Amino acid sequence: MKLREKTLHRPADLVSAGLAPPQKIAELERIAARYAVAITPELAGLVDPRDSDDPIARQFVPDRAELDFGEGERIDPIGDDAHAPVPGLVHRYPDRVLLKIVDVCAAYCRFCFRRESVGKGSGVLGREALAAAFAYIRAHPGIWEVILTGGDPLVLSARRLGALVAQLAAIEHVKVLRVHTRVPIAAPQRVTPALVRALKSGGKTVYVAVHVNHPRELNAAARRACARFVDAGIPLLGQTVLLRGVNDDAGVLGELMRALVECRIKPYYLHHLDRAPGTAHWRTSIARGQALTRALRGRYSGLCQPTYVLDIPGGHGKSSIGPQYLSGDEQSGYAIEDFRGGRHAYP
Ligand code: SF4
Repeated sequence: MKLREKTLHRPADLVSAGLAPPQKIAELERIAARYAVAITPELAGLVDPRDSDDPIARQFVPDRAELDFGEGERIDPIGDDAHAPVPGLVHRYPDRVLLKIVDVCAAYCRFCFRRESVGKGSGVLGREALAAAFAYIRAHPGIWEVILTGGDPLVLSARRLGALVAQLAAIEHVKVLRVHTRVPIAAPQRVTPALVRALKSGGKTVYVAVHVNHPRELNAAARRACARFVDAGIPLLGQTVLLRGVNDDAGVLGELMRALVECRIKPYYLHHLDRAPGTAHWRTSIARGQALTRALRGRYSGLCQPTYVLDIPGGHGKSSIGPQYLSGDEQSGYAIEDFRGGRHAYP
């Protein structure tokens, strides 16, 4: 994991790189003492220094509002801990588990739902915890899919990923591996042919879900990294977090969804922001999120439609919270809304 080279971690580095003014260094130090900071050279290069509200800088440069805890915010907003039978493994839904294989990322998103745990531990899940996680998966034949997450699993070397995939490949009832990552955007050079081969090496079906929030994140290097997966036969899914001041605009969101589809990434989820501590300044209303998804439906291809979801606090899982187009019932009949907002009776 040689991510520290050239990646900006210290507030002084952010100031030197022109990503923060010198007068903010004391407040940046206070934030960095609580939450991990990392901005890769690739992400720093995406920032437009003339834009004081740059959507890339906003996602990665600490802001003093992170130290203000809003109402209803939680250390473990989606309730991972309530469903962790062994350390590092979350079994919330019947047919799949999350394996939190690392607790570090290439870059740290300021709105991260696991911000209280990522960037603070030892790095990779320990040998004993990993053995317990594999034993649990082996003992539960209902587990059809294993989702590698963290942190960001693609900070691991190809060799380590290959070893992990080989162990999962040996479990007959696991049919699908899914990897959740921001690496193709934050550190695209890490997506090497060896890394892609490692993911495929077990012979299982592999999906990669790429976290992208703004169309500018999909620059040429990120697009090449994504293409390496798809060209090797690994389907890509897009996940986007709805963020005030970054993508809470129908034009920006539509442009992002189109860029994803052009890169052969199927938009999968648009996440309503989880209630992690110090993230209130990022959160839109649900009504705003529904209006935006309605606007996407009206103007963009069916391929460009993610499902707008909310992770229910307390560990109750995701639910779709997109707008409703159908009203009524079987007895009185239905009314259905078309993509222009016109309503029609459906007998
Ligand atoms: S890449 Fe994911 S886990 Fe890492 S900081 Fe961003 S949101 Fe959190």
